Amino acid sequence: MRNAWLAAAAGLSLAACDSGINIFSVEDDIELGEQLAEEIASMPEEFPILPREDFPVAYTYMDALALRIIESGELRYADRFQWEVFIIHDDVLNAFVTPGGKIYFYTGLIEFLDREDDLAGVMGHEIAHADRRHSTQQLTKAYGLSALVGIVLGNDPGLLSEIAQTLVQLSFSRSDESEADAYSVRYLCETPYAANGAAGFFRQLEGSSIVPEFLSTHPNPSNRVTAIDDLADELECSTEPWQDATYQVLLDALP
Ligand SMILES: [Zn+2]
Repeated sequence: MRNAWLAAAAGLSLAACDSGINIFSVEDDIELGEQLAEEIASMPEEFPILPREDFPVAYTYMDALALRIIESGELRYADRFQWEVFIIHDDVLNAFVTPGGKIYFYTGLIEFLDREDDLAGVMGHEIAHADRRHSTQQLTKAYGLSALVGIVLGNDPGLLSEIAQTLVQLSFSRSDESEADAYSVRYLCETPYAANGAAGFFRQLEGSSIVPEFLSTHPNPSNRVTAIDDLADELECSTEPWQDATYQVLLDALP
């Protein structure tokens, strides 16, 4: 499916937005994010979201973690986007974000990691994809600007579920991935977390035989580890794990 839309993206719509300039407004990001979150909530088979009321400890933990990053002072849309975290009950090693800041983490990824700092690193990476508007750019390339504007105006709700499913394995360019890694370091540098937390995920992947689908187009996790560590060094950020971290509390709170 990804190949099909990548092929479509190589057609006319790409030529029209080849400058990389986003003409979809920030307000449109927010509206599209709200609509996608509603659509995702209406697809419990595909997205078995843990209800907030049933998992208060897990959500309090995830909200606090996300907030430390959002309030790092390094985001462009910290106050404008309607940031919100959702936990999906599935073994997949994945996380994704909508335009406008709806963040989805799979329990498989949370359980694969073993430090709060590493989860914060991946959270920073996902937040960067929304805040730097990578998600908006990729969706614009894939579907064309007019289709996305149509959705925001309420004209084409049929496309929403397709976009929701695309988001799960949205393939970013190498430069977007590097930029999201770099912003994760910049954000975490202003929090109590180890600034190179995002590298923890890739380090752990190297030690296992698992290759998540969303990384299959980016086969060099070791290069990313080096780039993340080097940037943390260059910015003179702390890479000491946060002493008050309580990761087990989160793990125990999951089903
Ligand atoms: Zn990414």
